[in-house]
Amino acid sequence: MTQLTHLVLAAVVAGTPITNAPAHSPEPVPPPPSVRTMAPVKVVATLPIYASIAQEIGGAEVEATWVADPNEDSHFVRPKPSYALQLRNADLFITTGLDLEMWVPALLDKAGNRDVLEGGRGYVTAYTGVTLLDIPVAADRSAGDVHIFGNPHLHTDPLRTLQVARNIATGLKRVAPDRSARFDAGLAGFQDRVHRRLFGNALVDLLGGPTLEQMALNGTLFNFLDTQVMEGRPLAESLGGWLGEARPLRGLRIICYHKNWTYFEDRFGVECADYVEAKPGIPPTPRHVAHLIDLMRGEGIDVLLAASYFDSGRVTTVAERGEATPVIVPMYNGARPGLDDYFDLVDLWVGSLVAASSHSLH
Ligand SMILES: [Zn+2]
Repeated sequence: MTQLTHLVLAAVVAGTPITNAPAHSPEPVPPPPSVRTMAPVKVVATLPIYASIAQEIGGAEVEATWVADPNEDSHFVRPKPSYALQLRNADLFITTGLDLEMWVPALLDKAGNRDVLEGGRGYVTAYTGVTLLDIPVAADRSAGDVHIFGNPHLHTDPLRTLQVARNIATGLKRVAPDRSARFDAGLAGFQDRVHRRLFGNALVDLLGGPTLEQMALNGTLFNFLDTQVMEGRPLAESLGGWLGEARPLRGLRIICYHKNWTYFEDRFGVECADYVEAKPGIPPTPRHVAHLIDLMRGEGIDVLLAASYFDSGRVTTVAERGEATPVIVPMYNGARPGLDDYFDLVDLWVGSLVAASSHSLH
């Protein structure tokens, strides 16, 4: 069904005049039928993570698909021609909006769908309203750096991902305003899930998710929890969820492969002391690897974190030579069976890091 047919159908079922009929019709207006009688909003996302969030927000009102394979490096995707066709018929397109998906302009060109071009009503940038980090002082791609507008790997922080979800909901409401209530409810559900999984039920029930989110974003949460006492016990003991589980990671120095983890570091307090890639997108030289091994052995840094789409042989070799444990994890849902949504993904990241670091902490 084309966009136009959607609109007409939406107008008809909503009882809205679609011609120049008088605004006050003498005919009684029938109540609008269920939104289920309308076609789902067709969403194409660059990354599987954005598609799964759109699906969770929209439920049966959304049909979301994605372009990048969950096991490939999202910087370097070669979209199949079939994706241009899907995008041609899409109502909504979701992309990060920085320079992560440099393959998007060519794809949009082939699709020829004006509604989903930048500035169109069906174009959503995930980064809108997200506080970016790693913004270079001088943007220079000549050295191969692939993050010239700031770090584009937004979804490694659950709270930045929540802002991404808000942007997606705004886009859905823009293209299907008649279903706004459904999308608002879907977003509220997603937000509550993120709050509860991040902070744990006890703190959310006590203080409310939005208050906790605000404190986490402005950097006051941990000081607050450490200085408040409730019923004779430090409030920090009530912290659950991913932040509670990841408490042993705070202040821990690790080596990371690529600058995928900047926002994860910001949220969970772990620190990538150095990277296997000397610059984002630049494969390591033997000299740089030698430097890393010295660093790991010299400082006792014993975890090396890498996305699973990098050469796992190289990751393991560097880790072994530095006497560190390699933690190789997918970046996207769908990369492995059982890794179905965002929550599975963060569970895996936090759980794997805590497990790998626990031997060094005891
Ligand atoms: Zn990157």
